[in-house]
Amino acid sequence: MQKKVSLQALLKIIQQIEKDPEKARGDYLVGDTRVRILRAGATTNERVRALYRRRRASGLCINCGAKVKKKNPYTGQLYRLCETHRSEIDHNRQRR
Ligand SMILES: [Zn+2]
Repeated sequence: MQKKVSLQALLKIIQQIEKDPEKARGDYLVGDTRVRILRAGATTNERVRALYRRRRASGLCINCGAKVKKKNPYTGQLYRLCETHRSEIDHNRQRR
């Protein structure tokens, strides 16, 4: 997921690296240029897991970052995926 930001906003995000590097990380679009702020040395796998953890912890779809509103009736916990991705994955399962 990449956020469209102005150059001013991106400068603020870069300043945030000092205070809260975890929050500053992500993909940003400034015009047609993509800027990516990553933790140095992390493998792709670690980055993906960190992203999923962060999204899961804030109740967002781990796939696209959309707010998850529905809870799993069995566990009482929010689903890990938004409605769109939950139905996509269910369809994939049925096709296999
Ligand atoms: Zn989603």
